[in-house]
Amino acid sequence: MTNIVVVGMQWGDEGKGKIVDLLCPAFDVVARYQGGHNAGHTVRFGDSHFSLRLIPSGILHPEVQCVLGNGMVIDPAAFAEEVAKLAEAGVSADGRLFVSERAQVIFPEHAALDLLREAAAGSGKIGTTGRGIGPAYETKVGRSGLRVCDLGASDVEERLRTLLVRLESESTALGGAGGGHPVRVADQCRAWAEQLAPYRADTAELLQDAARAGKRIMLEGAQGSMLDVDHGTYPFVTSSSATAGGACIGSGLPPSAIGGVLGVLKAYTTRVGGGPLPTEDTGEAGEYLRKRGNEFGTVTGRPRRCGWLDLVAARYSQALNGVDAVALTKLDVLDGFAEIPVCVGYRYRGELLRRFPAEGRALAEAKPEYQALPGWRKSTVGMLDYDELPQAARDYVAFVEDRLEVPMALVSTGPRREETILRDGPPLRRLVGDRLPVPPR
Ligand code: GDP
Repeated sequence: MTNIVVVGMQWGDEGKGKIVDLLCPAFDVVARYQGGHNAGHTVRFGDSHFSLRLIPSGILHPEVQCVLGNGMVIDPAAFAEEVAKLAEAGVSADGRLFVSERAQVIFPEHAALDLLREAAAGSGKIGTTGRGIGPAYETKVGRSGLRVCDLGASDVEERLRTLLVRLESESTALGGAGGGHPVRVADQCRAWAEQLAPYRADTAELLQDAARAGKRIMLEGAQGSMLDVDHGTYPFVTSSSATAGGACIGSGLPPSAIGGVLGVLKAYTTRVGGGPLPTEDTGEAGEYLRKRGNEFGTVTGRPRRCGWLDLVAARYSQALNGVDAVALTKLDVLDGFAEIPVCVGYRYRGELLRRFPAEGRALAEAKPEYQALPGWRKSTVGMLDYDELPQAARDYVAFVEDRLEVPMALVSTGPRREETILRDGPPLRRLVGDRLPVPPR
């Protein structure tokens, strides 16, 4: 088995971008399967740094093909902007970037509605990025959305009439302006169709053919498992299936073609936007994590909520995704603490919960039950060998490994691609094969 899913095990921003980027040399194709330009990956190598929102970080590797799968929602203007930004930096996407003709299109009217809803929701805000992702998924499921292949079709105006009427009725009810006129928007659609033509493909077939030809595919999840529309902290979730199971639906690769799952877990917890976060620390420790971990949104610049590692959530996520091995990221951010609390259960109405509850209210009320682990108070930044880590840091990794019952095959000690400990052995080899990338040193 050669194809894997890389999935965030928390509330997103686990550092998936860096891990995917690091593993690219072991893969031929990198595909995204859900979300849109709300994702935001930051990849650093040497002195360069790249923020990608829509296109997989695989694009920075000239030998890798990149796919935006059918499960995604695509804002054509954002796509063009990102391709142009890459070209400016000397990265060519020509002939190796493919957009599914079945992917949904985000219209400016979707984004306008997103913003109106958030403004109207007051304290019940989900904290969306306001880019129209949620409304675009709604119209997809409501069967009034347009896909990439519909943009240049002869009935585009007719299709738009249905879509725009739906969006407009809610927008005007919330005090917004009316949507675009179908004739004008249809012209825009035809322009987008032309602009997307060089990239448009039946990407499910492309991926299936690649798998049959023995090419190796990495399916890159966006956001995190706790934001999955079914399994996450509903309704404070994203509108797509961010867990590993979503990879098949959103790419068109059958489950039998997937050989393994790499979970990306940050050594502590962060979350953007509203919703319960049991281990949030609103005091000094949280502030320290935010500053040292640079926990500000890639897309929006919003400060992220920070707290301790939540192993109840991580175990839930491990089971949901069938994680084979974990990439533990940002261990270096914990360097300064004398003691590091780790959540091993929730206290809820006098009861000790070890499983992750479905009800948001229970989660909001639950008090974390912490086990304090000794800190190391030494810099681990940029360490490359596991044995080089202070004993307490190794104990921390071993504790997480033991509680999750999954090997920590990679440990990340800095934002740069090369600042990673690769723990060579069967768990890592199983996922990356024998083309194990040796980080440039
Ligand atoms: P993603 O959406 O899961 O890829 O995560 P983000 O890119 O939003 O957040 C990860 C941030 O942490 C980026 O700025 C990375 O450069 C940085 N990062 C990733 N791994 C590490 C690490 O091990 N240590 C430190 N200090 N920063 C890291």
